[in-house]
Amino acid sequence: MKETATFLSLANPGVDQLPVYEPGKPVSEAARELGFASGDVMVKLASNENALGPSPLAEEAMIAAAKDMHRYPDGGAFHLRHALAEKLGIEPDTIVFGNGSNELIELVGQVWLAPGRGMVISDSAFIVYRLVGVKLGAKIVSVPMKRLTHDPDAMLAAVEPDTALIFFANPNNPTGTMVDGETLDRFMDRIPDHVVVCFDEAYIELLDPTAQPDMLKYVRQGRKVIVLRTFSKAYGLAGLRIGYAIAPPDAVALLNRVRQPFNVNAMAQAAAMAALKDDAHVNRTRAVIRAGADFLMRELDNIGVPFVPSLANFMLVEVGDGRRVFEALMRQGVIARPVGGCYGLDRYIRVTIGTQEENMRLIAALNTVMNGGGAVKG
Ligand SMILES: *Cc1c(COP(=O)(O)O)cnc(C)c1O
Repeated sequence: MKETATFLSLANPGVDQLPVYEPGKPVSEAARELGFASGDVMVKLASNENALGPSPLAEEAMIAAAKDMHRYPDGGAFHLRHALAEKLGIEPDTIVFGNGSNELIELVGQVWLAPGRGMVISDSAFIVYRLVGVKLGAKIVSVPMKRLTHDPDAMLAAVEPDTALIFFANPNNPTGTMVDGETLDRFMDRIPDHVVVCFDEAYIELLDPTAQPDMLKYVRQGRKVIVLRTFSKAYGLAGLRIGYAIAPPDAVALLNRVRQPFNVNAMAQAAAMAALKDDAHVNRTRAVIRAGADFLMRELDNIGVPFVPSLANFMLVEVGDGRRVFEALMRQGVIARPVGGCYGLDRYIRVTIGTQEENMRLIAALNTVMNGGGAVKG
């Protein structure tokens, strides 16, 4: 038989429209290609990982859990869910875990998005919202940001009768900017009843507790709000893939219907349980990131490179030609993240705030690339 169909011609509509995610190379491979002796001499500041690594308590819990890895995980994450509920002062039936909060973005999409239904996001919002919207055939309404910050008024104005969902990362990645709690309260006062608002708070624990907007109160009130959080950033467990959604029980019930029963692995549940008890590690992380941000802002001023002040563990740096500077930094042994393309931030690169040593390497490399090494004002 002569075959004329292709996998593509047989694929669901829209699949070929999906942008291809280009994963970064493993550091060891990048180092080899660039002629560095080993990956250890490179500094990876590309993925907003925790500069301090995981909590030592989580490491111990993982080692202890290893001997039980022949068992399937607890599909309801009973112990972790109850511990987290107690910590956050919410009910256990308002929590559902995911294989990273990225899985929850997808599950939220599966419940509330479809062809003929719309989603409102910001132009430089976290890219995964757009990917999920495209994949599900939803109408994507993207509104401009104001000074690289979500513009709640513009988002409200973009809501239409067919709008099902708003994704709102706060602080946002890759911009590092945040909308304060009072502004969000006014936003929530005006949000129409037919719209589900999903606040993505991946970086919330890195904010001073007094500066964290309280979106959980809307969950307690039963409003149409979903809050996403993760163990990937402040808790330093990105490799395990565990995040969670907090939402009124009827929303959680729907998310539980679309998720796979064993979506969160047992090692991740054990580590997250231990990490939750290690407030000291989160506090240390917050302090290191704030000190690192201060250092970077001071040094970027010194070498004459503009930046966007950030509340998270990364920062946009305005380098002119982001792609070129990203590549030049690689040759200096520093891996940053280009944010042109989907994010439309061609003039910037995004750098993760690392340890003091990593931050110093970054500044030295940037000074070399931008100024030939000579612009330090002192
Ligand atoms: C890093 C990040 C996440 C976390 O994703 P995980 O899947 O939990 O690792 C979610 N949202 C935003 C905006 C992020 O930057």
